[in-house]
Amino acid sequence: MSFNSLGLSEPLLKAISKKGYTTPSTIQQKSIPVILQRKDVIASAQTGTGKTAGFTLPLLQILSESKRPQNKPIRALILTPTRELAAQVYNNIKEYSEFVDIQSTVIFGGVNENPQIDALRRGVDILVATPGRLLDLHGQRALSLSQIEVLVLDEADRMLDMGFLRDIKRILLLLPEKRQNLLFSATFSKEIKLLAKGILYEPIVVEATPEQTTVEKIEQKVYRVEKDRKPAMTIQLIADGDWQQVLIFTRTKHGANRLTEKLNAKGISALAIHGNKTQSARTKALEGFKQGSIRVLVATDIAARGLDIPLLPHVINFELPNISEDYVHRIGRTGRAGASGEAISLVSQDEVAFLRSIEKLIGQTIPSEILPGFEPGAVYVKEIEAPRPPRQPHGSRNQSARSTNQGGFQKRSEKNYNKPNDGKRY
Ligand code: AMP
Repeated sequence: MSFNSLGLSEPLLKAISKKGYTTPSTIQQKSIPVILQRKDVIASAQTGTGKTAGFTLPLLQILSESKRPQNKPIRALILTPTRELAAQVYNNIKEYSEFVDIQSTVIFGGVNENPQIDALRRGVDILVATPGRLLDLHGQRALSLSQIEVLVLDEADRMLDMGFLRDIKRILLLLPEKRQNLLFSATFSKEIKLLAKGILYEPIVVEATPEQTTVEKIEQKVYRVEKDRKPAMTIQLIADGDWQQVLIFTRTKHGANRLTEKLNAKGISALAIHGNKTQSARTKALEGFKQGSIRVLVATDIAARGLDIPLLPHVINFELPNISEDYVHRIGRTGRAGASGEAISLVSQDEVAFLRSIEKLIGQTIPSEILPGFEPGAVYVKEIEAPRPPRQPHGSRNQSARSTNQGGFQKRSEKNYNKPNDGKRY
């Protein structure tokens, strides 16, 4: 299938070809025609599927086909959960709208609002916004949403995860009742369905690439490791593999900072990206990473959500996420635009339950391997060095029983660990 058959206008086709796209992705094939028919749409699509073009291209067409009202109102509102995603969507719109007469701008928190207010004053057709700054500027009467024709909720599941439900409800009250609604979400949870019910009118359900398909393209691996050896293992993986562009996920902001320091101390250039960083620090980190001046980006789930990092070869889960769906989002960074990637998870004993629920979600067992230098022997040595004697079977504490038990522990280790790729869960 080609873009020509989707009903898009010449100026948009020209922009698409300038971007170098030849074939529409699944989500684009399914969503563009129905959006052009002015239908409400609920689409399941994660980052990396081409969803942004899936809604921005038909949106640009709809707006450029109708006459702009005299007072130059905002005609389309795109809500996103994070600043990074807002900036990315806006950049895409700018590229796709090169040959149509449509004005757009982006507003988000963490930066000076005055340039944003100035841009709004000049009049825009499309506004990309995060909920907080939108309500803020609306409160200051810097913008009006009373003539919105199309509302897009991008990454709606993440907006709910981030606690934006109240803000979304407040924003809905500011919009005209008659409008087209498009809701994009990586997952269709109960909460998303409920939200959709309150917003969409007779929506067309578009299910793009099922998450499993994306996951299948990615080579996944688990390395079992003790918690405190994770930094050493990360350094070894990057150094031995000579990896030049690695995205690492940690569960906490502090964890991201600590690991970043350790990597830099070993001469591996790294920057952390998380909610405590200023907008300019986050932008700088992302830019450096994209350009290759920074080798490792260490991110928390929320900060990384929606980042456009094409063709990423390596993702490391320094810690597994406690929300299984986040694992799918994380590793989705490696399988973009048809390219395969490698996703490695460092799993300590306390994370085995997370691993199991992830495997249940993706319907596969992730192969477990041994990294040289991190053999289970290290675990064994540490156990016998510890002041507390190893746990005895049947409560026996005498010396001979202990040595028997050491043997038993060793045996268990061999059984459990020394079988690369045996697909067992530990
Ligand atoms: P998204 O899922 O919207 O974040 O897009 C993921 C990446 O795919 C972005 O880098 C887009 O520029 C790229 N992309 C979107 N549509 C296409 C297409 N039809 N062909 C090739 N790349 C695309």
